[in-house]
Amino acid sequence: MPSTRLANLIDGRLQAPRDDRWLDVYEPATGAIFAQCPDSSASDVDDAVQAARKAAAGWAATPSEDRSRLLHRLADLIEARLDEFAALESRDSGKPVALAKRLDIPRAVSNLRFFAAAIIAWESESHAMETGAINYTLRHPLGVVGCISPWNLPLYLFTWKIAPALASGNTVVAKPSEITPCTAALLGELSIEAGFPPGVLNIVQGRGPTTGQAIVEHPAIKAISFTGSTRTGAGIAATAAPQFKKISLELGGKNPAIVFADADLSEQNLDTIVRSGFANQGEICLCGSRLLVQRSIYETFRERYLARVKALRVGDPQDASSNLGALVSREHFDKVMSCIAQARSEGGNILIGGQALSPPGRCANGWFVAPTVIDGLGNDAATNQQEIFGPVVTLIPFEDEDEAIALANGTGYGLAASLWTADLSRAHRMGAQLEFGIVWINCWLLRDLRTPFGGSKQSGVGREGGTEALRFFTEPRNICIRY
Ligand code: NAD
Repeated sequence: MPSTRLANLIDGRLQAPRDDRWLDVYEPATGAIFAQCPDSSASDVDDAVQAARKAAAGWAATPSEDRSRLLHRLADLIEARLDEFAALESRDSGKPVALAKRLDIPRAVSNLRFFAAAIIAWESESHAMETGAINYTLRHPLGVVGCISPWNLPLYLFTWKIAPALASGNTVVAKPSEITPCTAALLGELSIEAGFPPGVLNIVQGRGPTTGQAIVEHPAIKAISFTGSTRTGAGIAATAAPQFKKISLELGGKNPAIVFADADLSEQNLDTIVRSGFANQGEICLCGSRLLVQRSIYETFRERYLARVKALRVGDPQDASSNLGALVSREHFDKVMSCIAQARSEGGNILIGGQALSPPGRCANGWFVAPTVIDGLGNDAATNQQEIFGPVVTLIPFEDEDEAIALANGTGYGLAASLWTADLSRAHRMGAQLEFGIVWINCWLLRDLRTPFGGSKQSGVGREGGTEALRFFTEPRNICIRY
């Protein structure tokens, strides 16, 4: 029996699931079970929804300054326990603790603070008509909303959803991934300490097809903000549509990183290009997994790139010197390994990596994969079309700008692209032609939380971030007055 049993947060109280059913939570670095999380049923979800309904009117009527203050307090409480959160996130997900400390947890704190501030600065729209009338727009909270998040950036993406939902006056029923439930559970405990009224934030742990599906289906939930796979997103859209629920879907990607011969390939930029493929073991929806390189520099770039990838250290996530940790689950490890096998069978050259790793000591049974770089495959190969979501990057040469655009856009996904060039005109020209929700030029993962975040095509519907998120979580009402 593992020592830790997580609880649901329903109506301001930490609760076990009604059916007393539990899911094992694994430490990816060791393959061992270290906790259990509730395997909640539809009745647990209904309890949470009823609590959220009860709290909805009071929370909507709470002045935004007070809502903001509570979000700030929660952010402070998380920040005060940064090390504990980072250690827990690393243990639960397999990511290096140094990354959790530098990126995941500080960003979760920023998400809460950002929306705490944004709700106070948010302006309502008004439109004057020359014919003697004025329109102004009221924005009301939707009521009870559902927030469902994935395992790759557990607390970071959980807070990215609950913060705008709560700031704009909704009550929330949220579900983190059952694969990485720990930090959301700890956040739930701190939300009580912060003083959120009971029922305002409810966290129901459990599996996607049961707990998650019950949230999506519940008729009292007015909107679903979801981040996860394209397949799950399609199912959520199908369930939500007949009920006319609002949906925001942040889904998968197969992102290009495009390197032109004129790019400034300084050591620092090369490091960023490597990071854009392998950060968090490649388990970031924004990772550039197709690296398009102009043919005139292909060979020399490849050598420099491979030398850097070779220097990446894969090992115990608790070790501060590890650049990459373990993949999140046995299932995901198997999927990534089968993608590498598929690349081989498609005729790809494995330039580096391609194998599982077994670090010495306590991590010998963990789910580690060597950073892998493959070339020799066309853009239409399955390896270049399917999201792998692991430490696997393919190299593809291109001749000129037209071919780069065709290759970059030649995917069913449209989340993010990065472009490396010193030619400013080209940067603007291509920025306008790349069919992705986010285009980074001479940078990667440089995030301003005010900007629209999300993807097109199979990468999703809608945008998060800044006022986009506040708009999503509110219902506009236009008032037109003639004078
Ligand atoms: P997933 O779709 O399996 O699960 C995501 C969440 O949805 C989990 O909480 C899961 O329990 C829940 N879920 C699963 N089935 C459900 C259902 N039928 N109804 C309701 N909820 C359900 O995705 P994952 O494997 O956890 O995450 C990896 C995926 O997430 C990748 O495809 C990645 O690209 C994507 N992702 C996208 C973004 C983005 O911003 N676009 C960010 C991070 C991850």
